[in-house]
Amino acid sequence: MTKTSPYKHVTHWINGAPVATAGAAPRRGDIHDPATGQVSGQVDFAEITEVDQAVAAAASAFADWRQASVAKRTQVLFRFRELFNARKDELASIIVSEHGKVHSDALGELARGLEVVEYACGIPQLSKGGFTEQASTGIDVYSIRQPLGPVAIISPFNFPAMVPMWFFPIAIATGNSVVLKPSEKDPSAANFLAELWKEAGLPDGVFNVVHGDKVAVDRLLEHPDIKSVSFVGSTPIARYVYETGTRYGKRVQALGGAKNHMLVLPDADLDLTADAAINAGFGAAGERCMAISVVVAVDPVGDELVEKIKSRIAGLKVGPGCNGDSEMGPLVTGQHRDKVTSYVESGLADGAELAVDGRKHPIAAEDVNGAPTADGFWLGPTLFDRVKPGMSVYSDEIFGPVLSVVRVDSYEEGLELINSNPYGNGTAIFTNDGGAARRFQNEVEVGMVGINVPIPVPVAYYSFGGWKASLFGDAHAYGPDGVQFFTRGKVVTQRWLDPSHGGINLGFPTNS
Ligand code: NAD
Repeated sequence: MTKTSPYKHVTHWINGAPVATAGAAPRRGDIHDPATGQVSGQVDFAEITEVDQAVAAAASAFADWRQASVAKRTQVLFRFRELFNARKDELASIIVSEHGKVHSDALGELARGLEVVEYACGIPQLSKGGFTEQASTGIDVYSIRQPLGPVAIISPFNFPAMVPMWFFPIAIATGNSVVLKPSEKDPSAANFLAELWKEAGLPDGVFNVVHGDKVAVDRLLEHPDIKSVSFVGSTPIARYVYETGTRYGKRVQALGGAKNHMLVLPDADLDLTADAAINAGFGAAGERCMAISVVVAVDPVGDELVEKIKSRIAGLKVGPGCNGDSEMGPLVTGQHRDKVTSYVESGLADGAELAVDGRKHPIAAEDVNGAPTADGFWLGPTLFDRVKPGMSVYSDEIFGPVLSVVRVDSYEEGLELINSNPYGNGTAIFTNDGGAARRFQNEVEVGMVGINVPIPVPVAYYSFGGWKASLFGDAHAYGPDGVQFFTRGKVVTQRWLDPSHGGINLGFPTNS
C-alpha cells in the first residue's frame, strides 16, 4: 500500500466525538486520491455495535432536541450556515482529494447544499400547522406536525456533502436526530460537517456519522429505533433499501440511478446546445445522477451537432481537481474507471460509432505494454454516435464521461424513446419552439424537466426526485416534500367544557 502524507484514519462520529470501530482487527476500507491513484488513508467500517451506539446516542438526544424551541433550533441552523460559509473552501478541498472532481465543481456542490440549509432556516414558517376556530359549536380543530425520532441517511459517493445536505438540515430543523452513513469511498466530508454542527451548538447526539458498508446499512434498516430512511444511490440498492426498510415498518424514500436524455429539436441553437451537452455530459466526469448521458438529435441536426460536440471535447482541460484550470477530473476509483472503460469496448462491439475515444486521451493513454502512462483513475471524454436502444452503452447507467448520440426522425420518436426508458430522473429539451417545449413538459414521463436547461436540479424550495426506477417511495428530497417526510401530522379537536356540553349521547359525534 502506497501512503501519501498526511495519511488519515477516518472514524465514526457518535455523540459529539470520534469513535473507532472496536476490536483488535477492525474492518477498514482504503481511501484513494483519484488523481494519483494512491491510498491516502483508511476509514473504519462499523459493525452492529457501532451502529447501535450511534442510534442509542440519537435516541437519547432526540428526547431533548424535539422539545427545543423552534427559535433555538433556527439559531443553531443560522450558526451552521455561517460556519459552513466561512469554511467551504476547506471542505471543497477535502472533496476534491477523495472524489476527484474539480475544485470549482466541489464549491458548486456546496452552494447547492447550502441552499437547503437556508431553506431549513425558514422552519418556523414551513412547519406551521392549520387552525379552524369554531369547527363545531364551541369546538376548535388544529393540526400540528411533529418529528419522527432518530432518522437514517445513506448517501452515495458522487456528492459527499450535497446529498446528505438534501436531508439533514430539514431533519434537524424539524426536531429529529440523525445517523448518517456516507459512502465509504469519500467519507471525510461527513465528519467535517459533524464538527461544524458541534461548533454551531447542536447538542451532542443529534447528528451522528457511522461509516461502512452493507453491515451498517442493514443494521440501520432493521433497527427498531430508526424511524425513517433517506437513501440515495444506485437503483438495485435503492430498491433493496426501500423493500427492506418498509418491511421493518419505516418511512423510506430511496432515490436511485438515472439515464438522462437531452432532446434536441431542429430549431435549437446548436452552438448553445453543444455547450450544454458538454457541460452536462462531462462535468464531474459524468458522475452525476443528473448528468446528460444521451443526446437525442432530431435529424437533420445530427451531423452538425456531433461535429460541434467533438470540437468542444478537443478543448476540454482534463487534469487533477486541485489544479485551478482543470475542467474535468478523474473517476472515483480504479475499479469504477475500468467498468466505465469496459463500456467503450462494448459500445464498439455493438456497432456504435466511436467519435471520440477517451481511452486515447493523453492523461489516460497506455504505453506499449498496456500499462497506464499516468497514475490516477483517468478516462478522457468519450463520444459515441449512432447509438441504438439495445446496446449496453444506451441501456445501462455508465456514470462516467461517456456521452451517446441517438438519432431520431421526429419529436414523437424522441419522446417515445425517453418514455420507454426504465429510469425517469431528469431530462431536457433544447428548442426555440415554445409550443413544442410545453408539449414536452406535459408528455414526458420524467420527474425533473429542463427547457433549454441541461441539469434541471430544482431549487431548494421545490423538491428533487425522479420517477420510475429513479425513486422508490412517495416523497421527493428537500423542499415541501422534505418537511412532510421528516414530520408526521397530528390533528387536535378541542373544547373547553361548560354546562352546555353535559348530558349522555352515544351517537357518533356530528357537527352542530
Ligand atoms: P451505491 O448504490 O453503490 O451506494 C450508495 C450507498 O449504499 C453507499 O452508502 C454504499 O455504502 C451503500 N451500499 C452499497 N452497496 C450496498 C449493499 N449491497 N447493501 C446496502 N448498502 C449498500 O451508489 P454509489 O456508487 O455510491 O453512487 C452512484 C449511484 O448513485 C448512481 O447510480 C447514481 O445515479 C446514484 N445517485 C442518484 C441520485 C438521485 O438523486 N437519484 C443522486 C446521486 C447519485
